[in-house]
Amino acid sequence: MHFTGVSHLPVIKLNYGMKNKKILISGASIAGPTLAYWLHKYGFNVTVIERSPGLRLGGQNIDVKGPAKEIALKMGIAEKIRALNTTEVGLRFVNSQNQTLAEFPAESSMSMTQELEILRGDLVKILYDHTSEDVRYIFGDRIIRLDQTEDEVEVLFGSGKKDKFDLVVSAEGIGSGTRDLAFGSRPCYKYLGLHTAYLTIPKKITDSRWARWYNAPKGIVFMLRPDNYGETRASVTFLAEENEYRDLDEQAQKKALIKRIQGAGWESERLIEGIGESRDLYFERVSQVKADRWSKGRVVITGDAAWCATPIAGKGTDLAMAGAYILAGELSKAEHHEEAFGNYEKIMRPYVEKCQKLPPGIPGIVYPESKWGIALLNQCIRVAGSKPVEWLLKLFSGNSKEDKKEIMLPDYENNTASGMKE
Ligand SMILES: Cc1cc2nc3c(=O)[nH]c(=O)nc-3n(C[C@H](O)[C@H](O)[C@H](O)COP(=O)(O)OP(=O)(O)OC[C@H]3O[C@@H](n4cnc5c(N)ncnc54)[C@H](O)[C@@H]3O)c2cc1C
Repeated sequence: MHFTGVSHLPVIKLNYGMKNKKILISGASIAGPTLAYWLHKYGFNVTVIERSPGLRLGGQNIDVKGPAKEIALKMGIAEKIRALNTTEVGLRFVNSQNQTLAEFPAESSMSMTQELEILRGDLVKILYDHTSEDVRYIFGDRIIRLDQTEDEVEVLFGSGKKDKFDLVVSAEGIGSGTRDLAFGSRPCYKYLGLHTAYLTIPKKITDSRWARWYNAPKGIVFMLRPDNYGETRASVTFLAEENEYRDLDEQAQKKALIKRIQGAGWESERLIEGIGESRDLYFERVSQVKADRWSKGRVVITGDAAWCATPIAGKGTDLAMAGAYILAGELSKAEHHEEAFGNYEKIMRPYVEKCQKLPPGIPGIVYPESKWGIALLNQCIRVAGSKPVEWLLKLFSGNSKEDKKEIMLPDYENNTASGMKE
């Protein structure tokens, strides 16, 4: 376990009634550090705890667009994100012979590649670096017990340490343990019929600055994308029963994955080798979190812990950063935490519901099992601009190239509220 934390960010004291209110955020990925930035800026005393011994820097390309881009600009990190661009120039759909069926350059209105395209790990590092001097970070520990009284939350950590906080936020991602501890049960998970694996593999001659998408038989999609470190980011997504790969350790996951993609053609042999040697494999069911409430007393949830929309929706970063910004802003201007939590939910929930809505036909149309289904999909893909392709790209890019705003972010820096009085 180690700690970091001093002070340098300009602080806007909006929480006049609640100065130095002590807040614990659990989870140091995207939602947690974004929330920490804004809470510190509004004058709160913030600690972030992360279960892993260090930042978890794995993952594929993610986009900073829509509300996430607006918030990155407000935070002054947009140029840092741009500087770490993944270098991807667009997306090519290929067949089993690696022939291009259709290509969508980054500049095209239908591309999946965004202006601020960055590796997930690079964004996590930027957010951490931007906050680590002002916020106390604790790595390698986690919350194991929460006791709420009327005025505070007593927290027991896995390390045996105890502390008291005014509020606790879980930003622990889809499987959040603190959420379940505080709420007394798990929220509803909507399984989408797919499992997905992300890993980094060595670059090969067939890789270029184009991302490649290949539909293999038996409902498998391989995607290979360039990164800015001279390696290739791979994803393998496939149809599976919900509990088919449950409770497997990493070695067992690797074995099961290799078995699932054996004989899938294209560059599957290379992927099998990559899986065997991988040191950053992330393997998950693709499920949405549907929580009917986001707070209980002094504990509140945000990011994937509250509303995971899945990578299929292309909205993970938009939602995580928007939720963090709104939660912090509402806490800065409300008189009581219940009021802030209520407003946070009122603003975010319609946006979450919109992002979680997937078109009918998922996963069957995008992940066809039969050769006939693949041939049909490939035929559609060849007709660039055809409705099915437009629909597919909009789906995976989060419909982001359109300028229309999906959520209006409130302007908290100019709010005139008198702040929390409790
Ligand atoms: C390693 C990793 C790789 C990912 N790769 C991709 C990807 O390639 N593409 C994609 O679209 N999405 C990916 N995601 C998910 C993506 O980060 C989220 O969908 C989104 O950005 C919302 O982030 P979040 O901060 O809410 O949650 P997450 O990003 O899931 O982060 C949750 C954080 O909380 C920590 N944590 C969990 N439990 C506890 C606990 N009990 N106590 C303390 N800390 C805890 C985790 O270690 C993690 O750092 C990945 C997530 C992780 C953790």
